[in-house]
Amino acid sequence: MKLELQEVEEWGLFENTTHPLVIAGPCSAESEEQIFRTAYDLKCLGINVLRAGLWKPRTRPNCFEGVGEAGLPWLLRVRGELGMKISTEVANIHHVHEALKAGVDMLWIGARTSANPFAMQEIADALQGTDVPVLVKNPINPDVELWIGALERLNMAGLKKLGVIHRGFSAYGKHKYRNVPQWQLPIEIRRRYPGILMLCDPSHIAGQRIYIPEIAQQAMDLGFDGLIIESHICPETALSDAAQQLTPVNVGKLLRKLVIRNDHTENIEYKENIDELRARIDVIDSELLDLLALRMKVSDEIGKYKKQNNITILQAGRWEKILEKVFSYGDKQGLDIEFLEKIFKAIHQASIDRQSSIMQSEKK
Ligand code: PEP
Ligand code: MN
Repeated sequence: MKLELQEVEEWGLFENTTHPLVIAGPCSAESEEQIFRTAYDLKCLGINVLRAGLWKPRTRPNCFEGVGEAGLPWLLRVRGELGMKISTEVANIHHVHEALKAGVDMLWIGARTSANPFAMQEIADALQGTDVPVLVKNPINPDVELWIGALERLNMAGLKKLGVIHRGFSAYGKHKYRNVPQWQLPIEIRRRYPGILMLCDPSHIAGQRIYIPEIAQQAMDLGFDGLIIESHICPETALSDAAQQLTPVNVGKLLRKLVIRNDHTENIEYKENIDELRARIDVIDSELLDLLALRMKVSDEIGKYKKQNNITILQAGRWEKILEKVFSYGDKQGLDIEFLEKIFKAIHQASIDRQSSIMQSEKK
């Protein structure tokens, strides 16, 4: 399904904002004073859109679950006195009604909600007939179709001011970041919907504030349109996500250090050089394809030979040796071991699949 989108310049949200677009504010609204002081300092940095969670989806019960609609007047005060736009997360019909009633300028859908088609449909139905901008966070699991499905449900309900937020994906076990970025997913969204507003949420990817700058920079390097950053006037005392919130002062420092890249240039010399480099890549890619095809042909011959001699396809010892050789040679060539493992596992699997169909074919 093609998404019918309205360009972000027409949303009336990011006026006077230069690239990158920045939304910032606390994980949760906790008190009027906390919201107002945070918003005031962010506004002084030129940030015009405040984020604040009112209803907080928490992993375990008996944690702080947000102040709910009691926080709406605090957001309205920020809009009234500071002229900032205000945004919050909605996860069910009740949240949608309360947020719309208060005239919240933008909504976002959390990662646990975009993963749930029933909840998404309920929210889309509740938003029908409005034109409020909605940003959809990636579902917690790395499923690009589910993410797109959430956008489609909203679009089918008539919403055209849609964007996405990349906040990383849950993974079991210990990782450097709280949520693994898996950048290939937002890149796939960009490929399918080149015009869609795409923000990165480095706070929820990082989990710890020291990692936020490198993630924000990577998002800029990949051409994201902007950032949504968690910021709290006093992060140490935050009732949720304390470790990943930045003071407004540190948000300012982060933004000043960001290197912003252009998506194109008119510089002739650059164009000539990049064209030459790309031509070289194209040649290398076709050589890679020729080599892969050749490898598969040899592998087919091995398959036939194994069949004639009634030998199993998988020879664990041989596979182990191939991997060892690949890793040690690849390492010397400066290639990443994890990358090599992925590529060679894929090649090996494809080769096994071809040998299986040879084994199962009627021909002797
Ligand atoms: C949030 O933005 O505070 C939030 C709950 O994020 P996510 O849905 O990405 O976990
Ligand atoms: Mn949070």
